[in-house]
Amino acid sequence: PVRVRYAPSPTGYLHIGGVRTILFNWLFARKYGGRFVLRFEDTDPERSRDELIEPMLESIRWLGLDWDEGPDVGGPYGPYRQSQRLHLYREALDRLLAEGKAYYCYCTPEELDAEREAARAAGRPAVYGGRCRHLTEEERRRLEAEGCRPAVRLRVPDAGEITVRDLVKGDVTFDVGQFGDFIIARADGMPVYNFAVVVDDHHMAITHVIRGDEHLSNTPKQLLVYRALGWEPPHFAHVPMILAPDRTKLSKRHGAVAVDEYRRQGFLPEAILNYVALLGWSPGDDREILSLGEMIELFDLDRVSRTAAIYDVEKMAWMNGHYLRELDLDQVVERAIPRFVAAGLIQGEPHGEERRRLYAIVDAVRQRVRTLEELVEASRYFFTDFDGYEEAGVRKHFDRDDAIPILEAVAETLAQVEPWSQAAIEQALRGLAERKGVGTGRIFHPTRLAVSGRTVGPGVFDVICWVGRERCLERIQRAIE
Ligand code: GLU
Repeated sequence: PVRVRYAPSPTGYLHIGGVRTILFNWLFARKYGGRFVLRFEDTDPERSRDELIEPMLESIRWLGLDWDEGPDVGGPYGPYRQSQRLHLYREALDRLLAEGKAYYCYCTPEELDAEREAARAAGRPAVYGGRCRHLTEEERRRLEAEGCRPAVRLRVPDAGEITVRDLVKGDVTFDVGQFGDFIIARADGMPVYNFAVVVDDHHMAITHVIRGDEHLSNTPKQLLVYRALGWEPPHFAHVPMILAPDRTKLSKRHGAVAVDEYRRQGFLPEAILNYVALLGWSPGDDREILSLGEMIELFDLDRVSRTAAIYDVEKMAWMNGHYLRELDLDQVVERAIPRFVAAGLIQGEPHGEERRRLYAIVDAVRQRVRTLEELVEASRYFFTDFDGYEEAGVRKHFDRDDAIPILEAVAETLAQVEPWSQAAIEQALRGLAERKGVGTGRIFHPTRLAVSGRTVGPGVFDVICWVGRERCLERIQRAIE
């Protein structure tokens, strides 16, 4: 059975790149009826922070993805934090040491630096020269007695090749000589990433390692560890890098990268997942809008591209707008309500007529916005008075000789519309245009500007209707003055 995992280090918040890795693993697991495992790689005490685990879980939950095993839900292969699995690394280390496949190294950082310097100066690759490879028991005892704490190194052949059979990249061959005997556990006893990840993936019966491209260069070292331990490695799939539109590495400089920031801005999880799915994967046709169900059906590693994906937040915002329009109105309103409350536009969950009005406003406004934040901003004038008019609009629609008489006539007309409905408002204003012998635009544009302060927005009859008769009349009066 397929078993895949996402193995973050709790050193920060969940980023777009992490979402993509999670999503591909999740899709793969769901497609093949497998298990998706969360494992936290928290053995670096300087960088790992416990309090970052829960926010990361919360971000994944918010996205609407789930996991079958993990630090919070447990599972048959736990524990799911590396800091609680130290005995497993110790056991593997002891075996490698006993079998002579690994050895203790007492070299100090200064000695190692000097060695690297010398290698560089001589134009040789800076690999460990193997000074501690053949220490006798006695030499070791002496060093221990002097208080030296050893690291552990894996014995690596001096030359040869090792090939990663990657499900995305194909065969990638590395020269083993470039690695030297690398460290697998530090002097404080902590395993290094390339070692712990192998022990964990093995003991957790992981079948496919799907992860970012930046780890491809680690994979040959991990294969060497598998080989030394006599374990069968999993399949590997390295998914392509995500670049900014300027083709540099994606970073804060390019805007938000943290999922929570997008959440604050009013992006919808559906849109984020849909957009991120297409970063390096394609369904095989030019479809862009895909539900999670469709993604599960269509996903496979052979449709993952080898070349870098470009992350374009404008495109994601466009997609978000699409989801805002296409989701059930209920769902959009439900997600928007806390924002309307926070903005002070409504006082909590609305009921009755107030609720009906909110639904109508959201439905009208969502046609032209991209995020929930924009939705609330663009809805503001339905609830509170606005400051100032859009300047271009003033020049075009208010600075005309007949603007005032027209607005006066509109106010008179609106005062008498019965019932107060879009249809009746429309009929009344069209009638007015006819009586005045002017085009409807000469009526609609200044009216919209007067009641909303803007030149664009939902249909003008929606605007007038949901701003409300009283407010419309006040605002038209204010515009005339
Ligand atoms: N902790 C590693 C990372 O966050 C895991 C890499 C892997 O999936 O092996 O990049």
